[in-house]
Amino acid sequence: MKLVVLGSGTSVPHPQRASAAYWLESAGGSLLLDISPDAAHRMAQEGLDWPGLDAIWVSHFHLDHLGGLAPFLFGMKWAPQTQNRSKPLRIFGPAGAKTLFEAFDGANNYRLLEQHFTIEIIEVDRSAEFEILPGLRARTVSPPHTHESMAIRLDEGEGSSLVYTSDTGYADEIADFAKGVDLLLTECSFRRNKPVETHLELADAMRLAHLAEPKRVLLTHLYPEWDGCDLRGTRHRRASAALSYL
Ligand SMILES: [Zn+2]
Ligand SMILES: [Zn+2]
Repeated sequence: MKLVVLGSGTSVPHPQRASAAYWLESAGGSLLLDISPDAAHRMAQEGLDWPGLDAIWVSHFHLDHLGGLAPFLFGMKWAPQTQNRSKPLRIFGPAGAKTLFEAFDGANNYRLLEQHFTIEIIEVDRSAEFEILPGLRARTVSPPHTHESMAIRLDEGEGSSLVYTSDTGYADEIADFAKGVDLLLTECSFRRNKPVETHLELADAMRLAHLAEPKRVLLTHLYPEWDGCDLRGTRHRRASAALSYL
């Protein structure tokens, strides 16, 4: 599998970090993990095959994870690149996704589901197992964030695996869920002294990683307080401070 980070930021507008969206390519097709308001243009910017996107995963209803869905479908409806598309686009999300989307769609009669191809909205339980793309198994678990939030684990046959926590507070259950995964893509909203229990700070993310023992960890969903922070530099400074005591 190949992962392209399209947005490592949050809902706070930021000059360098777009909000949540991750492009995943597997043997069975392409999958967008969350679709923030920045996602559509970031896909184009990275030269990705957005007109051929196979599936979208919506982790929860906060707009920095979902707010780009309607604009993307609006773009697909009218873009020259999608006029000959025939394969379906599948959108997986929490219970209530259909109602939420239809309410928006109906508010101005956009008819975003009436396209040249079929759009399926598939609602998923918070502890489900299903095939999200051919050959790509998905499992979900409910993290402490919002009531509908889901973390997702993706396993490609006997090959690579990934866990995307999306937004979450700390829970040992997330570590169990991510045990031994190839890539743990975890939020790490704050550096320290987090103001809410429904997000992680660095010590929480490190605890998750310590317990889950993934091959690699990728910290994302970074609030602007991370700006200018160089973790390696911080460690070196601490190391040199410690050395000065010796
Ligand atoms: Zn978020
Ligand atoms: Zn959220």
